[in-house]
Amino acid sequence: MDLTDYNEIRALLARHGFRFSKSLGQNFLTAAWVPERIADEAGLDENTGVVEIGPGIGCLTAELAKRAGKVAAIELDKALLPVLRETLRDFDNVTVIRGDAAKMDLRALAEERLPGLRPVVCANLPYNVTTPLLTALIEAGCFETITVMIQREVARRICAGPDSADYGAFGLFVQWHCETELLFDVPPSCFVPQPKVTSSVIRLTRRAEPPLPVRDEKLLFRVIRAAFNQRRKTLVNALSSGLGLGKDELEETLAGLGLDPRVRGEALDLAAFAALSDKILTGKDEVL
Ligand code: SAM
Repeated sequence: MDLTDYNEIRALLARHGFRFSKSLGQNFLTAAWVPERIADEAGLDENTGVVEIGPGIGCLTAELAKRAGKVAAIELDKALLPVLRETLRDFDNVTVIRGDAAKMDLRALAEERLPGLRPVVCANLPYNVTTPLLTALIEAGCFETITVMIQREVARRICAGPDSADYGAFGLFVQWHCETELLFDVPPSCFVPQPKVTSSVIRLTRRAEPPLPVRDEKLLFRVIRAAFNQRRKTLVNALSSGLGLGKDELEETLAGLGLDPRVRGEALDLAAFAALSDKILTGKDEVL
């Protein structure tokens, strides 16, 4: 059975009495080249264990199962379980787990379901929960690569650098933990039902070490979030209201780093944010 053929998908789903749920981000692939290419980009072999979130009817799952040692696929919609039992019956290296991936301990799941294998993630993510799911996958700290299809707009934000409208706190969080690659775009015509937006496939490769030394990682991300919470404001104004620091003190800190006192947060790269966070901490040490 061709799991990306529009007519076959319609017949399969009708047989199971399945109805698409918009709130679960259910847009299933209808172009065979897409799951094949996503699975190719995930760098799989028999020593890899894949966690997939949202197998749908299993078109990507089947491509992953052909290439990897094992696949653990988490699906929230229980109406899809009998469908997956049918479509994946020829694969003995796939386990389907019913549940909400956003509420699971993904590290424990990988250890339990994929023992002895190199854990990676590969998925066509439900778009409405992309950011919390990617955050949870990165914070799990065990996945070597995360190859996922997401909305193009979010993919651009994840990969953006300074001085662009896409640059922001979430991208910096991802870039702190992973190397990011924007791989290819997928148009709405490759799905049923068709989404309103273009999708992109990205690959995140976990860094063994943070990209830069920083004294207090939590403070670094408080500074970054404060800077972008009010991105139209100057950095001094944004940090003053976001972190409760004095403006004079902040202007002095920026001057000490060779930065213009009117600079905006979106002009700073990760290294500049790390230097700024360390300097703010040094200022606090001096006060204490
Ligand atoms: N992998 C299939 C494909 O590429 O055609 C389906 C992808 S579809 C964009 C997203 C899938 O994620 C749906 O099957 C949906 O039911 C499932 N899903 C939505 N939220 C979920 C969650 N929190 N945990 C696990 N699965 C979820």
